[in-house]
Amino acid sequence: MSASSSTMISVADAIARMQASITPITEIEAVPLAALVDRVSAEPIQASTDIPGYTNSAMDGYAYLSSSLPEHGGPVTLKIAGVSQAGHPFQGNLAAGQCIRILTGAQVPSCVDTVIAQEQINLDDANTVTLLEPLAPGSNIRRQGEELSAGQTVYEPGRRFNPVDIGLIASFGYATVKVRRRLKVVLFSTGDELVAPGKALQEGQLYDSNRYALQALLERAGYEVINLGLIPDDYDTIAHTFEKASHLADAIVCSGGVSVGDFDFTKQVLDSYGSVGFWKVAMKPGKPFAFGKVNTAYFFGLPGNPVSALVTFDQLALPALATLQGEFWKPRQRLYLKTGEALKKRPGRADFQRGWLRQQDGETKVFSTGPQGSAMLTSVAQADVFVRLAAAQGRVEKGEWVEVEIIGAPLR
Ligand code: AMP
Ligand code: MG
Repeated sequence: MSASSSTMISVADAIARMQASITPITEIEAVPLAALVDRVSAEPIQASTDIPGYTNSAMDGYAYLSSSLPEHGGPVTLKIAGVSQAGHPFQGNLAAGQCIRILTGAQVPSCVDTVIAQEQINLDDANTVTLLEPLAPGSNIRRQGEELSAGQTVYEPGRRFNPVDIGLIASFGYATVKVRRRLKVVLFSTGDELVAPGKALQEGQLYDSNRYALQALLERAGYEVINLGLIPDDYDTIAHTFEKASHLADAIVCSGGVSVGDFDFTKQVLDSYGSVGFWKVAMKPGKPFAFGKVNTAYFFGLPGNPVSALVTFDQLALPALATLQGEFWKPRQRLYLKTGEALKKRPGRADFQRGWLRQQDGETKVFSTGPQGSAMLTSVAQADVFVRLAAAQGRVEKGEWVEVEIIGAPLR
């Protein structure tokens, strides 16, 4: 990470460079299932048993052995010799002309091979059923191991667990899983004009919104946030804050002061106290974005404009933080859609325009959310997608195909 470039680099380059220079944290802890959501696995997860663990019925109905039925076809009458109920398997054997009552999830005993749903039989009396049409052998049975075999790896290390994963892990009988320690991230805002919500504004002041959105984003991403509040545009105070922050956390996220204005001290401090990886990314909104290191903490300096802060955090800082957390990073789903209207664009930087999806003429098309100013948070709040327009792209005409990224967690 040399104090290299004042040249602009691409979004993909920025992510690749950050990911290549980051060493993931190594501390591991065992956490119970109830605390596993959004934690990142530190071990492979293997099926402890076959899933299903025993052959069982997919239906409420009657189980019989196909080969014991007469070969003439047509209706067959069978005597009910017993019951297999979930948790209470049938013990015993069947003679020709017999079946058992079986309920969904109940073990299928080895003396039968087919289940017929109760809707497909006539219950003649309490002890006798008539099958109108015998089924193909093996029908309505979930075989032991048909989903997973014991020992099969289901998740590699680096998996961020979602609620479905937790269900699957519980089905293996594991009560705890080894995960990486949760990342600690220091957060603060810089700017003399900023005021915390709840206080009165003086002329020329505005409310700090970035810190609140970023705290929510970081927490949703599963990280522990240490919020240092509002820091004034003062070189020494910022330097002191950097030093302090670097001893508190694995990463530092702040907004404001990363460009080259007279009072933009963030980058100056980073230059002298830490190391700067790069600080201009060819993206809009965005551009000024500082990545570096202060002592052992990785540093992410976001632009102050609220849309720029959120989009650079989402697109650049999140993949890098995931790498630091030890997570296998999977970008969001992208697809190509036609525009329902022209989109303004100048060649130079990659745009992340905010768009809506709307049905038109039986097709899903993308429309602009309206004015795209980098201070206009409403453009993100209402958006369904980022319209990702390549740096070299100019104006997009109505009806052209564009690449869209469905906005999802943790941003929405
Ligand atoms: P800066 O990157 O510090 O030059 O700030 C760019 C613009 O974003 C200015 O208009 C700032 O007032 C605004 N801004 C900076 N930080 C925040 C913040 N935390 N919340 C809301 N707006 C901000
Ligand atoms: Mg500022």
